Amino acid sequence: MEKYAISDLVYRLSCSGKEEENLYDEAEKIRTTYIGNGVYLRGLIEISNICIKDCFYCGIRKSNTGTARYTLTDQEILEAADFAYTHRFGSIVLQGGERNDSSFVRRVEHLLKEIKQRSNNELGITLSLGEQSRETYQRWFDAGAHRYLLRFETSNPNLYSKIHPNNALHSHATRLKCIEYLQQCGYQTGTGVMIGLPFQTLEDLANDLLLLQSMDIDMVGMGPYLEHRETPLYAHRHGLLSLPERLRLSLHMIALLRILMPDINIAATTALQAIAPEGREKAMQIGANVVMPNITPTSNRTLYKLYENKPGTHEGADESMRNLEASIRRSGCQVMYGAWGDSRHFYKRK
Ligand code: SF4
Repeated sequence: MEKYAISDLVYRLSCSGKEEENLYDEAEKIRTTYIGNGVYLRGLIEISNICIKDCFYCGIRKSNTGTARYTLTDQEILEAADFAYTHRFGSIVLQGGERNDSSFVRRVEHLLKEIKQRSNNELGITLSLGEQSRETYQRWFDAGAHRYLLRFETSNPNLYSKIHPNNALHSHATRLKCIEYLQQCGYQTGTGVMIGLPFQTLEDLANDLLLLQSMDIDMVGMGPYLEHRETPLYAHRHGLLSLPERLRLSLHMIALLRILMPDINIAATTALQAIAPEGREKAMQIGANVVMPNITPTSNRTLYKLYENKPGTHEGADESMRNLEASIRRSGCQVMYGAWGDSRHFYKRK
């Protein structure tokens, strides 16, 4: 495993010109050597925007009374999963605001079993449903989920405390503990960070990369911080990097992560595309190998906004698929239909 000093990472995060080209070339070569040019699909189903938490950057935080709340019915979720299955996506992601009440835990467990059964166990299922007890993670794993995404957002506990309320529900230590639980339960475990946050330094981002490496993580989804005006962090928008600078820094993070961890899965996130349509393509070219087309019913998609100007909120699933395919081809990659696209790193780690 490649070892880097913080100072080297900080230097490469801020490089430009020829050095930037070299960074991207190196990442692209490593990606081709270790995992090829395939891009795997995860059909994203945003099951609900109801959340018990109040993260300062998030548009669907509990205290934002300006957002209408929704929860998809079982029927809507199962139909979206059927769409992914019949269109040979290989996998889906069930994502939602955080809830940990027993009826929610039971409902997710039931949905997992149902989706597995309806797809003859052929659809892989990733969950992104926040912090839960170890028992809940285990129940959902046993019911059929095999990957879980839980971003730690930043490796710096002080920065974490500036972007979250200061209470037990929003603890950096708990977040890291949950990621450990997920690994212990046997999930392919994904995490990630936001890039370009208020108060964040290049050293913070370099430390983020080193923490991802030391946690031996299997998958990463990271992208630029995009502000939402109905959140407390919006007050700190002055002095942020410009959007193109945040995009560029995010691409540098992806390239460096691919160099540090050659065989993990890295997602090209929607937030990259929100800044510039070609942002997601560049990410795939230099190392990202997973995309998550949104297949939430369009009537609800506009309500699931962690940040503003989220792309694709009005596209139907067929349309968003056509656009995505073209985008993957433009990046020089190919869509891997019907495959789970598990993290190679996970099997090596096991
Ligand atoms: S970031 Fe996640 S946990 Fe935090 S308020 Fe938003 S949906 Fe809830």
